[in-house]
Amino acid sequence: MRIDVLTLFPGMFEGPLATGALGRARERGLVRVETLDIRNFAQNRHRTVDDKPAGGGAGMVMEPGPVLRAVEHVLARAGGARVCLMSPQGLLFRQTMARELAREEHLVLICGHYEGIDERVAEILEPLEIAIGDYVLSGGELAALVVMDAVVRLVPGVLRAGAAAEESFEDGLLEYPQYTHPREWAGRGIPEVLLSGHHGEVERWRRRQRLMRTLGRRPDLLAARSFDASDRAVLRELRDDLLRLSLD
Ligand code: SAH
Repeated sequence: MRIDVLTLFPGMFEGPLATGALGRARERGLVRVETLDIRNFAQNRHRTVDDKPAGGGAGMVMEPGPVLRAVEHVLARAGGARVCLMSPQGLLFRQTMARELAREEHLVLICGHYEGIDERVAEILEPLEIAIGDYVLSGGELAALVVMDAVVRLVPGVLRAGAAAEESFEDGLLEYPQYTHPREWAGRGIPEVLLSGHHGEVERWRRRQRLMRTLGRRPDLLAARSFDASDRAVLRELRDDLLRLSLD
């Protein structure tokens, strides 16, 4: 996979791109990431890339020219890219979108700054607009890093096979709680079943924990999916437990 990031602040990417799963994926050649400074595509003498909003108001708006020239530059080197624009007004970024983007060969991520980018860029490119949450950041750089991190770990070969399968949101559920050694720590043990060596029981316990956690913390996720008979039995039990608790 190849990712081109267009930004006014390429320096913000250095640490994160060299670290962890992203850094390893790049070292192993599984993904190529390049950051391009939008300012290099300014054409005026002072290399300015922003101006006052048309119609007045606070802040500055990024001009369309430099951003479009930067996009054209990366598309000229390799066509067929999925162009994404970081925007608080975009589609909410979720694991399903991360999985979809992980199947692309080439992503172009455009980061806005200040009050955002002149709307004509979105009108012309019709990009996938991505919001990482319902809040306003001061720039798209952190959003692009969030998207890259979530996407790259799903590219085949980046994680150990199967490592992502039971994680939160895969399968529409949160993950089960995790424990490691020591067996006793600060007066607390870990659930007996995890020490039992019974693979089947561990699996049943984990499935039940996933359903419990999701029911307690993110019931909206449960509402969005269907369940097989054994999950339904667990959910009925949990519901009955809850009802008993609230009556006592
Ligand atoms: N004036 C805009 C916000 C601009 S924020 C508005 O009210 O809608 C400046 C830049 O930060 C945006 O262009 C975008 O690239 C990025 N950004 C801010 N919040 C974001 C979010 N929640 N998700 C993705 N990108 C975001």
